Amino acid sequence: MSIRDILKQREEARDNASKGDTDFPDGVTRYVKVGSYGEINKDGRTLVLLASPDDWYVYFIHEDKTYNGKGYDHNFRKHTCLHSPKDVDIDAVLTYFKPGKAECISCKAGAKRKMFFMIPVYDLEYKTFRVIDIAEFHANNIISDYDKAEKMGRKFNPAYTLVGEAVHFKQVDKSYSLESGEATDEQLAEAKAFIGFDFKFAELANFREVDDIVTLLNDAAGGVDKSVLGSVQQKANAKAGDEEAWTPKDEDFNF
Ligand SMILES: [Zn+2]
Repeated sequence: MSIRDILKQREEARDNASKGDTDFPDGVTRYVKVGSYGEINKDGRTLVLLASPDDWYVYFIHEDKTYNGKGYDHNFRKHTCLHSPKDVDIDAVLTYFKPGKAECISCKAGAKRKMFFMIPVYDLEYKTFRVIDIAEFHANNIISDYDKAEKMGRKFNPAYTLVGEAVHFKQVDKSYSLESGEATDEQLAEAKAFIGFDFKFAELANFREVDDIVTLLNDAAGGVDKSVLGSVQQKANAKAGDEEAWTPKDEDFNF
């Protein structure tokens, strides 16, 4: 593949990204579904890594779920914490570790908060970038595999990196693993056009309006102090009729 082809690919990728998820077949989204019934299940899936862990998007979500034997009961609808970085900024992440009561109504209401990671990958099947959106515990396991694989590769080539290489993600022992995968040189060249791409993580994270969050916290079955919602509640009630549809991220493909 020539540099011209790669540049053309990048241009098409930018166009596709601005069109949203429309280039995916029905039931497939920008998010790679993880879990037993997802795309990254026990058989796993080979994807090309587009960034190293320091360049993965770290943000926070509010979620409060309990396992009921078959699935999960949610106290409220899972949503992005407003006190989250809006871009990849590994140095700033520390300042977001504690709940931000001034910045986020859900933090103020004491809603359970978890760190999440978006891992940008290239999908060999759909020929575009996608993200693996995963909780801290799973990201930690994947990073540990990443480090092991890179350390091994660097014994033979000090400049070796997994970024731009095919890796196989798999569900293992209620978490996920990463090992080296197979792809053709042409596929890798196509994938590499997306390295350094502006993935617009904040858009993918779907930050909601405060009114919208107040509405969903008001509907919570538990786990939140609704008394802090008071002042904004009336405004939210007035707007409750024109609530926007939630993105596919809402689908819960955890175990
Ligand atoms: Zn929050």
